[in-house]
Amino acid sequence: MFFGGEEVKEIKNTLRTLVFDGQVSLTLADTTETVKEAEKLHKLSPASTVVLGKALSAMTFASACLKETTGEISLSLQCDGAVGSIGVSGNRALRLRGYIDNTQIEEGGAELLGNGSLTIIRDDGYNRPFVGACALPNGGVDEAFEEYYRISEQLPTYLKTTVELNEKGECAFAGVAVLQPLPFASEQTLEKVKNTPLYKLIAEIKTLGVEGAAKSWFSPDESVWDLRKAVYKCNCSKGYLTRVLVPLGEEELRRIVREDGAVKIHCHYCNSDYEFTDKDVDGIFKK
Ligand SMILES: [Zn+2]
Repeated sequence: MFFGGEEVKEIKNTLRTLVFDGQVSLTLADTTETVKEAEKLHKLSPASTVVLGKALSAMTFASACLKETTGEISLSLQCDGAVGSIGVSGNRALRLRGYIDNTQIEEGGAELLGNGSLTIIRDDGYNRPFVGACALPNGGVDEAFEEYYRISEQLPTYLKTTVELNEKGECAFAGVAVLQPLPFASEQTLEKVKNTPLYKLIAEIKTLGVEGAAKSWFSPDESVWDLRKAVYKCNCSKGYLTRVLVPLGEEELRRIVREDGAVKIHCHYCNSDYEFTDKDVDGIFKK
């Protein structure tokens, strides 16, 4: 990337590698920019920033695990606590987007999700999507994800996320650390994984970056070094929504324009509003 003739090094914020003699997969991500973008787009209260930020961070991990370049993964979390519902989608290119029902959760209102469920839809772009779900355990977003991986994917997963706020209540730093033992991991390794203080590891990302944190804590296998950049990016556009509208048919679209002045679509992932007028409908159905 070039700005004014000067090369600016793009900061890669997501790392996947193998640790503990190749027996455990490690994922580290600095999700600060992603969470800040969500906070700004949705005008989130501090507590809402924390809970949506944790879900975005965990889904950065889930997206980084996608194997196919056409892969997409979506989270739907529904609960009877103050959070209500959360939706997050990500793809293999590590473009994340999300929304939360309650953008104005009060302080302390989001630590426990309450009763509900977490559903994940994973689509590799070729076969029928994989759908997995679990009931929410006691706790917050991290516990919900750990439970999901244990129940639905049968993968023991140690996942922690952090969203730190500054004195104004805005996101100052966010990150995620995940250890996933592979099926052949030894008992001894499993014990080490369990005893790794993941919150401390995330704190290291803040000062050392993802590569520095991985190297200072482990002896990672650097032949497996998947270093990429995750961003908050919605994939909506007028062109994309046009394709969504076509199946409604010309007559129906004309009727909506007649009655409401325009076909109005709101994208809840990025808070954008789109309007389709008669002229747009002409364009869609031009012979
Ligand atoms: Zn959008």
